[in-house]
Amino acid sequence: MNDLYSRHRQVMPDWLALYYDEPLEITHGEGRHVWDSAGNKYLDFFGGILTTMTAHALPEVTKAVSEQAGRIIHSSTLYLNRPMVELAERIAQMSGIPDARVFFTTSGTEANDTALLLATAYRRSNTILAMRNSYHGRSFSTVGITGNRGWSPTSLSPLQTLYVHGGVRTRGPFAELDDRAFIDACVADLKDILGHTRPPAALIAEPIQGVGGFTSPPDGLYAAFREVLKEHGILWIADEVQTGWGRTGDHFWGWQAHARSGPPDLVTFAKGIGNGTSIGGVIARAEIMNCLDANSISTFGGTQLTMAAGLANLTYLLEHDLQGNARRVGGLLIERLRAVAAQLPGVREVRGRGLMIGVELVRPGTDEADPQAAAAVLEAAREGGLLIGKGGGHNTSALRIAPPLSLTVAEAEEGAAILDRALRSTY
Ligand code: PMP
Repeated sequence: MNDLYSRHRQVMPDWLALYYDEPLEITHGEGRHVWDSAGNKYLDFFGGILTTMTAHALPEVTKAVSEQAGRIIHSSTLYLNRPMVELAERIAQMSGIPDARVFFTTSGTEANDTALLLATAYRRSNTILAMRNSYHGRSFSTVGITGNRGWSPTSLSPLQTLYVHGGVRTRGPFAELDDRAFIDACVADLKDILGHTRPPAALIAEPIQGVGGFTSPPDGLYAAFREVLKEHGILWIADEVQTGWGRTGDHFWGWQAHARSGPPDLVTFAKGIGNGTSIGGVIARAEIMNCLDANSISTFGGTQLTMAAGLANLTYLLEHDLQGNARRVGGLLIERLRAVAAQLPGVREVRGRGLMIGVELVRPGTDEADPQAAAAVLEAAREGGLLIGKGGGHNTSALRIAPPLSLTVAEAEEGAAILDRALRSTY
């Protein structure tokens, strides 16, 4: 055990889950690559979803952050804050939500917590519909709506939560259904729940589940849910913490794959928009955002520092059409990985879209999740010079691939080749 790891174990909580038998200390990065403290270089196929939406150490963001840090970082909200207003204007305009208002937070957890505050206050109800296998954060309110019990560390909750089918279709009662029949079955489940509960405030859902293993519901599932929700006045909260900003390639927001009945009532975002600086937030129609009956502020949500980073990062994303890049390079990567999967019975499915790709591993010849194989592939990929993530269900048997959105074709090919070798050495 290296020295930093043993010091970590002495002082940090046990429930902080570290990757790898010998956890890495990442010391620096550039583009799509990072280096560890031993000097090893890795192609980073996971940092994109965690922090680095565009590229590591992107000069445009570094410049904006250092200039702003040298100028002023003051209260986000007690005085007028130019970069905050500018970023809010751009996000409101891109959200597709009419008369949109934006509130900035410091994390995805706090963004969802705020969305719950708004939805419950607006609807005068503390009943929430959430998806099985979902993840929405680590605060008292968000662990209570997190369907993935592996990430919901207490059973106490200020909210009454009801879980809806639709998050996972890899296995379970609906696994054999085609898209249409799957949607119909999930809608019937939702209607059944609504027939037996007090009026819920909202349904919260990730358009593609992140921690849950990049599960991909059929397009239109949430549009079908929306029609039912509307009849009851129930709000739809899209948790875009992982799916936003063009990562899914075909769409700027994940909810757009389900857009038939219009935008969600609330959208939450976080992670990559700040390219490593802490930005989260909620977008909602004015009547919902303004429903609170007392003041509410955040000291660090929307600081000049993070807003400067967000503006520079978003500008880079749009000017370089990284959504289009995610579609093209992600499409190629999915194709490569499906070709590998076709030869290996332990790889049950390659799913996702754009640069958000899940690889589900099973014990060969069965339908059983294989978390040991997922852990082994993660180690083998690291030895080969590639960082990937894992997740999925109560057994973490899915590999998660989410590189920075500037990934090149050559890097996609290189990563696919390393993963191919890692999978073959495991199975
Ligand atoms: N929602 C989703 C969909 C997430 O994936 C996460 C983080 N994994 C969160 C919310 C919570 O975000 P944070 O860790 O920034 O609090």
